[in-house]
This record gives sequence, C-alpha cells and structure tokens, in this order.
Amino acid sequence: MSAHPVDHDANCLFCKIVAKQIPSRMVFEDDEFYAFHDIHPWAPVHFLIIPKRHIPSMAHLGADDVGLMGRMMALVPVLALQEGCNPYPQGGFRLVTNTGAEGGQEVQHLHFHVMGGPRPWLRG
Ligand code: 5GP
Ligand code: ZN
Repeated sequence: MSAHPVDHDANCLFCKIVAKQIPSRMVFEDDEFYAFHDIHPWAPVHFLIIPKRHIPSMAHLGADDVGLMGRMMALVPVLALQEGCNPYPQGGFRLVTNTGAEGGQEVQHLHFHVMGGPRPWLRG
C-alpha cells in the first residue's frame, strides 16, 4: 500500500490538469510527472513540472520522496533545453518552487517553475 493515501485530490486544479479535465499545453508526460506551459508566463520560456501524485507542497515531502524529487529535478535541464532555453552558461534557466502563503504559493499541488529565454522578462 502506498505511504501516500491521497494520490489525487478531486478539488485540485493541477490534479484536474493531470487528468486532462482542464486543458493545458503539454511539455512532457510520463508515469510520474506532467509538465505544461504556465498560463501567465513571466519569461519567453515558462513551464511547470508537477508530480502526478497530489503532493500539496515541498513542506509535505518525506524520506520516501527523495527518489521522486531527484528524478523531477533531473528533468529540469532536459526540458529547459527542449523548450528553447539557451545552453548554459550564456543561457540557462531559473528554477522556482513557491511553498506556503508566505512563499507565494497559489496552487496547492507541488510544482517547479522553469523559466528562461532571452531577457528582458516580464517579471523576475
Ligand atoms: P504558484 O504561485 O502556486 O507558485 O504558481 C501557480 C502558477 O500556476 C502560476 O504561475 C499561474 O500562472 C499558473 N496557473 C494557474 N492556473 C493555471 C491553469 O489553469 N493553467 C496553467 N497552465 N497554469 C495555471
Ligand atoms: Zn493536486
């Protein structure tokens, strides 16, 4: 049995996106992760990577999640280049994970923001 009984939250916006109940512009999908373009991009490239499992935030991670989070992080440079970020070091990207109200988190399903592309950006 899973250590995480709540794999899907029917009221969660990003769970609905994973289930394709709400449309999104997909960047990547496998068994564990879904990536899609942010609806309000800050930068020429701005997409989100989420675990398909409903994890509300980074504050909810435990020792069981180390492998999952490592695989999620390893996706970042691969998808950044795929989506048009320029190569390091002249290019690169920004990785952001807002956590909790004071961390600026608006959607309560763990997500990485990956932003990149030529400056200036709209924000950041
Ligand atoms: P947070 O503030 O929680 O870190 O970021 C949530 C992000 O989700 C925001 O950048 C916002 O633009 C994005 N977002 C919110 N609703 C939707 C949606 O329905 N579709 C997509 N693609 N992005 C969304
Ligand atoms: Zn969710």
